[in-house]
Amino acid sequence: MNYRHAYHAGNFADVLKHVVFVLAIEYLKRKEAPFRIIDTHAGRGRYLLDSVESEKTGEWRGGIGRLIGPDAEPLSADASRILAPYLDAVAACNGRRGLTVYPGSPLIARKLMRPQDRLIANELHPEDGASLRMLLRRVPAAKVMALDGWVAVRSLLPPPERRGIVLIDPPFEAEDEFARLAHGLADGLQRFASGVFIAWYPIKDPRRVRSLLDAVAGIGAKALRIELMVRQSTGQDSLNGCGLVVCNPPYALQGQLEILMPELSRRMAMERAASFRLEPVKKSETRTPISDKSQKRRMRIRT
Ligand code: SAM
Repeated sequence: MNYRHAYHAGNFADVLKHVVFVLAIEYLKRKEAPFRIIDTHAGRGRYLLDSVESEKTGEWRGGIGRLIGPDAEPLSADASRILAPYLDAVAACNGRRGLTVYPGSPLIARKLMRPQDRLIANELHPEDGASLRMLLRRVPAAKVMALDGWVAVRSLLPPPERRGIVLIDPPFEAEDEFARLAHGLADGLQRFASGVFIAWYPIKDPRRVRSLLDAVAGIGAKALRIELMVRQSTGQDSLNGCGLVVCNPPYALQGQLEILMPELSRRMAMERAASFRLEPVKKSETRTPISDKSQKRRMRIRT
């Protein structure tokens, strides 16, 4: 386990993932009934943006730094309204010194949950797990666990509330992580068919993404594909973009993202051309690579 999220906290991938996570939480809050958030790969929960790790990569400057702070371009009124709960959750972790802290998924969940809601935050790395335990020690509605994330998907579902969100955000260090994700989603949905599952993936090798999406299409649940490319592919070693598969997406999510994605991709662009995809997951008829422009609704954003 070499991956440490402290190097990447607040980057474009975190922004996309956390925006979608927050929109899903806010949607579940429209009903009084309690829900449970299960965060299978939770991280340490809170990241200092002036830490050695953050300073080393500076990745947050191309992510949250483009939405909050002196370099941030103003958003349209509609995008500001949709992003408000996310930006408020980030602001709530910061004081008068401006943006110095970025909240991880468990802290964002904690900020948005109501008294009746529950959080299970699972993290296997001993140091990050200990930090997370410390962070949530006074939150009775939150439980920190140290299971293997793929075991968590099996053993913690279904939740007693029968309403909830499962965030699956593995580090993609292992060769077989795409296959594990596909199995995890199939297994999780079998146990908790009505759950909202949000799974993150890196976009490096388009063939791996395609086989994940084909596997998700084969599960048969309704699913949304949300991808953000911050630069054109520069080969399979660098993170050119990232995606989320949301199974059982909240009803409002696609419409909200239709407003947000053009604005997010324009701000997160690392090159003149950035792009996004937003579409239901469908099985590919032919094994068409992601770069084939004819196959999809793809928008190219010029900055
Ligand atoms: N979800 C977090 C967030 O959005 O703030 C970030 C999580 S980070 C991408 C992935 C985390 O998974 C790392 O903190 C890593 O230590 C942890 N991890 C690695 N292997 C794991 C495993 N097998 N089970 C659970 N957690 C694992």
